[in-house]
Amino acid sequence: MDYMSNPVPLHRFAESMSGYFLAAVRLICEKYGGDASQIWKDKPSSAEVVYRFLEFKGVGPKIASMAANILARDFKIPLADYHFIDISADVHVRRVFTRLGLCPPDSTVDQVVYKARSLHPEFPGMMDLPCWEIGRQWCKSRIPICHDCSMRDICPTGSTQT
Ligand code: SF4
Repeated sequence: MDYMSNPVPLHRFAESMSGYFLAAVRLICEKYGGDASQIWKDKPSSAEVVYRFLEFKGVGPKIASMAANILARDFKIPLADYHFIDISADVHVRRVFTRLGLCPPDSTVDQVVYKARSLHPEFPGMMDLPCWEIGRQWCKSRIPICHDCSMRDICPTGSTQT
């Protein structure tokens, strides 16, 4: 706990995080021989690698899928498939899905996740980063910058915006 809190807190929930961190280190030692890369080294299916992340205390489906997505997308770790790596439907991704006409306003997280699965079943999580970046940089909640957005020619909302 001290290492998580001093000299500055590493997380706003440093106390619970220190417990999760310790539990994670134990799991890596006991199940993976102290080598975290053993989690993905046998080229598991995407469902299996998400499942393995879910075995860590404090990790839910969103974080497990995000971790698998980072492995596959950013670190190019080969997996047997990518079907079960979902998008992380945060506020930016949901807003972009709505404005692009992919989901109705006030869609649930599950609706957005399943829409991404239906649009790109081979790797739904691949849509995550582009939508997040569009949402952060151009498709802002109050005033979208449509004239600079790469989606402007196909976006049903963009044509009515500045
Ligand atoms: S064109 Fe405009 S409304 Fe459509 S996604 Fe881009 S920024 Fe958002």
